[in-house]
Amino acid sequence: MTDQELVRDLSEEQLLARFTPLLPTAGSTLVGPGDDAAVVAAPDGRFVVSTDVLVEDRHFIRTWSTGYDVGWRAAVQNLADCAAMGSRGTSLVVSLVLPSDLPVSWVTDFARGLAAACAGQGAAVVGGDLSGGEKIVVAVTVHGDLAGRAPVLRSGASAGDVLAHAGVLGRSAAGLALLTAGVPELDPALVTAFLRPDPPLDAGVSASLAGATAMLDVSDGLLRDAGRIARASGVSIDLLDPARSVPEDLAVLEGAATELGVDPLTWILTGGEDHGMLATFAPGAVLPQGFRVIGTVSAGDGPRAPGRVTVAGETPVVAPGWDHFAG
Ligand SMILES: [Mg+2]
Repeated sequence: MTDQELVRDLSEEQLLARFTPLLPTAGSTLVGPGDDAAVVAAPDGRFVVSTDVLVEDRHFIRTWSTGYDVGWRAAVQNLADCAAMGSRGTSLVVSLVLPSDLPVSWVTDFARGLAAACAGQGAAVVGGDLSGGEKIVVAVTVHGDLAGRAPVLRSGASAGDVLAHAGVLGRSAAGLALLTAGVPELDPALVTAFLRPDPPLDAGVSASLAGATAMLDVSDGLLRDAGRIARASGVSIDLLDPARSVPEDLAVLEGAATELGVDPLTWILTGGEDHGMLATFAPGAVLPQGFRVIGTVSAGDGPRAPGRVTVAGETPVVAPGWDHFAG
């Protein structure tokens, strides 16, 4: 059990024997890992399902991310997609492609990261597959429970709604910028926000309970993701001046932004992968804890045509979106 022990030193069964006991479990699992397939309870009669892939050297690099980080991130981004529908993630299926020279400790670390990220939602890893390959590939499929509620779609926003956000903005992008510049020590908390994003996943269900009209998680940047709601709903969205609506997010970014010569607004508006919940609510709705109003929704006219996103009434001058790093 040393760091020198490599994946190729173990049979698939031996590797699974190390990996499987570390995986998170849950009461909704009727038949767990070890059979040909798992069986999971779906008391709602429906389940939410989504999938995501992480590829080494495209979505993460091993010199920056530990196995724990990658396991955490793989679980969180899938659980965030469930949350964004107004559901709670219940079960994950995790498939791994592993290079033969990968330390076994990376794989067990990965399982611990998965388990830690799933703990807050009570989600289980119920199965998966292992294969060999040139690079690490992590494919996660998640299932979520709506508990009888209607799913919250991107297309339900109406003129007059408010746009609200729960979570943090820009931190993951700032952390990536610090790593890219080779100065992670300038703000380790921002680097952690990139390596292990920790969105308020419960905010998805609470937004649904509070009557959210549309929702998604901010994975590709506020402007781009707000634009997805605007287009799907046929409305225009005007973001409030972030200096007034999210001053605490700007303040957290200030030091790193100054050091790197970056306008922190760019990270707020275009930084992806913080996975906070972006939702619209009818006027007068009582926003659930953690949500703050960051924009308004209108039918759109003139420069604010349907599908358009403006910032304090102006067309934003920053690049409109975040492409996944090295992507
Ligand atoms: Mg999403």
